[in-house]
Amino acid sequence: MILNNGLPKFFVRRAGVFILLYACDEKRLSSEMDAYQEMLDNHCEIEYQIAEKARKMGKDIVEHVEIPRASDLADRTEKLLEEYLEGLQIADELREFLATKDRETASIEMSKQVAKRMHARTGDLVKAIEVGLRVGLAVLTEAVLVAPLEGISNVRLLNNENGAQFVSVDFCGPIRAAGGTAQALAVLITDVVRRELGVGRYIARHEEIERVKEEFGLYRGNLQYKPTPEEIEKIVSACPVMVNGESTESEECAGYGNIENVDGTRVRGGVLLVIGEGLCLKAPKIQNHTERLQVEGWDFISDFANKDKSSKDETKFTRNKLIIDPNDRFMKDIIAGRPVFGEPLAAGGFRLRYGRTRATGLAAGSLSPVTMHALGNFISVGTQLKIERPGKACAITPSDCLQGPTLLLENGDFGRVDVLDKWPELESQVNVIWDNGEIMLGYGEFLENNKNLIPSGYNRDWWASEIIEMLTDESAISKFISALDIDKEEILEGYPGSVSDENIDNIQLKRKWIQFLKTIPFDWDSCMKLCREFGTAVPPPWNLNWLDLPIEWLGSLHDVLLQSSVIDVSESNQIDWNFDAKSNQWLKISGAVKGWGPVLSGKDPPVNPPGPIIDVSKPLKNQYCCGDIMQWHGLIKSSVMLLGIPHHHDGDDIILTSSWEGMLDGLGLELKNNQVVTRIDINPHLEDSVKRITNALNLLQAEEDRSKELEIERSKVRIAAETAARQRGEGIAATDKAGEAAASLVIDKGPEDPNKINAAMNLLDEHTIDGSLQIVRKCSELRWEHNAPVRIGARMARPEKAAHRLMKTSVNALFPISTQGGPQKLLTIASGSGNLRVTVGVRECTKCGKPSPFTRCHHRFDAEDPSSNCNGRTTPIKSNNSKARRLGELQTIPLRK
Ligand SMILES: [Zn+2]
Repeated sequence: MILNNGLPKFFVRRAGVFILLYACDEKRLSSEMDAYQEMLDNHCEIEYQIAEKARKMGKDIVEHVEIPRASDLADRTEKLLEEYLEGLQIADELREFLATKDRETASIEMSKQVAKRMHARTGDLVKAIEVGLRVGLAVLTEAVLVAPLEGISNVRLLNNENGAQFVSVDFCGPIRAAGGTAQALAVLITDVVRRELGVGRYIARHEEIERVKEEFGLYRGNLQYKPTPEEIEKIVSACPVMVNGESTESEECAGYGNIENVDGTRVRGGVLLVIGEGLCLKAPKIQNHTERLQVEGWDFISDFANKDKSSKDETKFTRNKLIIDPNDRFMKDIIAGRPVFGEPLAAGGFRLRYGRTRATGLAAGSLSPVTMHALGNFISVGTQLKIERPGKACAITPSDCLQGPTLLLENGDFGRVDVLDKWPELESQVNVIWDNGEIMLGYGEFLENNKNLIPSGYNRDWWASEIIEMLTDESAISKFISALDIDKEEILEGYPGSVSDENIDNIQLKRKWIQFLKTIPFDWDSCMKLCREFGTAVPPPWNLNWLDLPIEWLGSLHDVLLQSSVIDVSESNQIDWNFDAKSNQWLKISGAVKGWGPVLSGKDPPVNPPGPIIDVSKPLKNQYCCGDIMQWHGLIKSSVMLLGIPHHHDGDDIILTSSWEGMLDGLGLELKNNQVVTRIDINPHLEDSVKRITNALNLLQAEEDRSKELEIERSKVRIAAETAARQRGEGIAATDKAGEAAASLVIDKGPEDPNKINAAMNLLDEHTIDGSLQIVRKCSELRWEHNAPVRIGARMARPEKAAHRLMKTSVNALFPISTQGGPQKLLTIASGSGNLRVTVGVRECTKCGKPSPFTRCHHRFDAEDPSSNCNGRTTPIKSNNSKARRLGELQTIPLRK
């Protein structure tokens, strides 16, 4: 039922109560939403009070709730850095900066201001620089990460060789969370702040540069980018601030271990992160700021920022490639036992459709539930697939709107199954999963991964939106009705093509039309009328996989079809496999599958293909684009299967039960008085195409031979020159040089006509993209688009990765037990020995003054009386070992007495 305001009025039943599904009462709902928000705020406040009370009991390390409640970024920043700011108010100023400037600029400006104010207040240079840097970093990371606190362990003023002071910042592991941009900007912020306060620049010493080179070589962790030694030299010697850090890794530097200004001999992970992932990778972003702020001494960053650009310029001169290349990245790190569902771009893999279901989350896609069963039940809801495009992994949810797999059964039946209920009865008869069916991915997945969109097939979604655009007035609607041969009452109201997308009513109207058009059944005659009247391409089920059919077969297939006969429809067991429109007549090709048998695994195909002996053109390249399937199935069955035409066998005959009309039309044939006759002669088009492709292939072969010969010639000269140089007693470098010099004297004259080579390559690209569809477009009067232009390769990723990860049981406390809990790290095993030797922070009781590793003192006033525990609150104490505050000390923890 539709309300008079055009909104649908649906009810849902909830335990005997009917609820209106559509939101009509916006005012009431908004006020409910506000009330809900307020309720959340109030409850949160109460939770905080409870937590505060619990912490006050002193059983935890900290006696108050550490997570401050903050209203916005400025407030959060101030609260996060409370410890460092020492009462300095920054929230209001920061709010102003954020309102007028972008985040990165605001962070740099704010750092300057805070550092200046801190310096004026305390006169402490180091403290001023440190606070400025931390504030800047907090603003960059939304003040929700620990990076501004834990990512920077220390800021120091050290001395250059000439005695001048410079700033050294110690970065450590947690800086990773801040991301490359913030890491790099941290260095820039420090530089800006130290200029503001008049501290000199850092001049790297030889051994400090070499130390970083050595560390990059030794580092075993994951880095997005590893700079070359030359790049390291450039960055470290030009950077006006010393990127320093604590030793974090287990690898030790042998060459430049103990040097001044660097703490310890082991690899400093933080330094490598900031230089590799920050300064190197985010150079373009930093360059923006250095140029805008006119910071001197950052020219080196421009070289890195322009690095990618210059390499791109070089490739500009090469040909603009039209084809989509296979991408096999998803096949890497494949794990044994986890199946591959489609190789890169290979026919039979998933066909892309754009869209999402209600259940599709982020980084997720959908498959037909039949596909999920048909692919060996490997894919269940939430299973991660590694997909070729847009890349990365996606979690799978089912959608029964999608096309399921196309099956070839043991008895020769061939067709697509979309209806889940049919699968169990077919499962045991399946011979080949011919095609995986559709995979549905959102447009946003491509956007998020920064990948170009790839074309989807011309499906009913695309077709419906084209029809809608044309339905602008009454005359268009009446044309539409007459093409479909239906009554006016059967279609929806309104002219969806005449309204814009501006308001919700229009969108609802279009949405309903799309749904209607996607599911409306019609026959081939109506389809042709619609295509002609509205200029759409041929929609499924008549849209066939022309690209999969080798162009070399078209002539023979055309001739065979002229011999076929039209028969009446009788009983078909495929009638309810899917919801496609079925044909009013069937097409019979006599004797086409004589001697056919199902594909047998591990066996070679029969020497003589089944069916009649047909003369087929030799492959243009070394083999047909579909491989050797003709050996198994014969030309006729192979062709209709490649095109995706449903059929079954009747003795030696093959009976095409639907969508075969599209094949006839595409090959320039038509039905007249139930006879297949020629409408347009396919042969001239075919001969022309084949000739041009052959010429192009020959031309490229000649060019390849020419460059091979040139290379042989060059290597002869090179070897001669190198031998001569060696006999003169020259070194390896000089020998190579002599060889290259001699080889370059053999001049590459280039191909006779480079334009011809280029044209030939373009022609072959076009052939790869369009294949047999080129011929179809010439022979048919209708518009044709690809049904499956691109297949998406996929393999199973780690299903366990998709699971909700919970620790069993819920963690309420952490206690260090080192390796004493056995392989499963069990507390009970660790505590079984009575005493525990682990590294923990050093604490001292405030009541009795004795050291205790616990937060409440464990000493007893009377050793025999368990109830006489001191139970005083302990506080951390400064140990003699300077690192103990961060890393703790090895202590004995008494668990029993
Ligand atoms: Zn005590």
